[in-house]
Amino acid sequence: MIEIAENKCDFCGCCVGVCPVNCIEVMEADIRIEHEICIDCDICVYVCPIEVLSQTDSKKSSSAAA
Ligand code: SF4
Ligand code: SF4
Repeated sequence: MIEIAENKCDFCGCCVGVCPVNCIEVMEADIRIEHEICIDCDICVYVCPIEVLSQTDSKKSSSAAA
């Protein structure tokens, strides 16, 4: 599951456009991820310039590269 360090986010919106299933919502001072829709691809984790997002599920790391 993707974890959000909300106190670090500057709401730039970079992560929104890269999500393949469109489950990230960034508003003026709020960010949300719909975890039911998220496929844990981790793209948003790599795109965020200030490391706000992180993957908490270490079990899936072997299949993440696909
Ligand atoms: S891990 Fe992938 S599917 Fe989930 S929020 Fe990030 S970009 Fe979207
Ligand atoms: S890319 Fe990072 S800083 Fe920008 S809105 Fe997404 S989580 Fe926040």
